[in-house]
Amino acid sequence: MQFRDLHKQYDAMRAEMDEALLGAAHSGAYIMGPHVAELEQQLADYVGVKHCVTCANGTDALRLALMALGIGPGDAVFVPDFTFFATAEAVAMVGATPIFIDVCDSTYNILVADLYDKCCDARNKDLVPRAVIAVDLFGQPADYKRLSEFCKEHSLFLIEDGAQGFGGSIDDKKACSFGDISTTSFFPAKPLGCYGDGGALFTDNDEWAAMLRSLRIHGKGTDKYDNVRLGLNSRLDTLQAAVLQVKMNHFDAELLTVNHAADKYSELLSCKVKTPVVPEGFYSSWAQYTIQVDNRDEVQARLKAAGIPSMVYYPHTMSQQTAFNYLNQRPCPTAEKLTTTVLSLPMHPYLTDEEIVTIASLI
Ligand SMILES: *Cc1c(COP(=O)(O)O)cnc(C)c1O
Repeated sequence: MQFRDLHKQYDAMRAEMDEALLGAAHSGAYIMGPHVAELEQQLADYVGVKHCVTCANGTDALRLALMALGIGPGDAVFVPDFTFFATAEAVAMVGATPIFIDVCDSTYNILVADLYDKCCDARNKDLVPRAVIAVDLFGQPADYKRLSEFCKEHSLFLIEDGAQGFGGSIDDKKACSFGDISTTSFFPAKPLGCYGDGGALFTDNDEWAAMLRSLRIHGKGTDKYDNVRLGLNSRLDTLQAAVLQVKMNHFDAELLTVNHAADKYSELLSCKVKTPVVPEGFYSSWAQYTIQVDNRDEVQARLKAAGIPSMVYYPHTMSQQTAFNYLNQRPCPTAEKLTTTVLSLPMHPYLTDEEIVTIASLI
């Protein structure tokens, strides 16, 4: 059994995918070919925002968002303590200071209540609070109603790190539309993955979109040999755009099946272990299905003996990461507890009920 079965997905769309791959090869326009602009329009329409700007990966997307908002040295950016390293890394890479926020035990997402205290922490360190990066962890949108209230109240930018959340929604408003700027990743194992690295940014703001288009190609002005600022080399390949266009044709159907899989898991497991909680009105794209168990090593070993892979996302909080030792921040108790109990089970749209029954019976 595969943890996320990308072979099965390819098989399900093989003819269409092979044609798209060959088409991109034959086109000769390998960088910024027509597929890229087409895909951007398609993704902007899907998410329901004005602009989509693709880029090389989800980490660059975060970095580009921070650059476009003018965030740098002396600035504080609030990020959840329980996330993939890139969320906080991007903040530090632009010279700003990440401040780690605890998370909610049942949704795994940023705990808005903890932002109040941490705002004071930032000011006590002579930093200017500038932005919150909320993460749609494991596919589920963060609490954007409370987050946008908090950000308005404190004049902070809200950035949505939707690397794991593309396809999710709250009351029919799609993920990647909740931030002033939102980002996603097309890393193969994400809900919408390509065949290599890729990423995108979303915004309704014309100026930020124009800035992002400049920043992703060396700070270009009227053309790429007119450089009006420092930027990155961060484009999405034509080939990856072609792959994503095919994947988009199947995406909504995949969201349905992956939600069916999650329901099945929860039905079988919720009386035995702590299963993920999806609040009323929220819809997850299930990048991961993550349970909490006290005897994690034992459960993981039992699954492994039966040939079933499982993963620990994440074994360390951001404050525990060696790279962030220099920040010397207050520990976040829930995030730390989660690192010792979480276990992610095989999850993807091609998982069968039979497989889920087998996994659940071992747990
Ligand atoms: C994967 C991921 C990223 C980074 O995306 P890449 O495309 O791998 O650079 C950022 N944030 C979160 C939450 C992620 O899961």
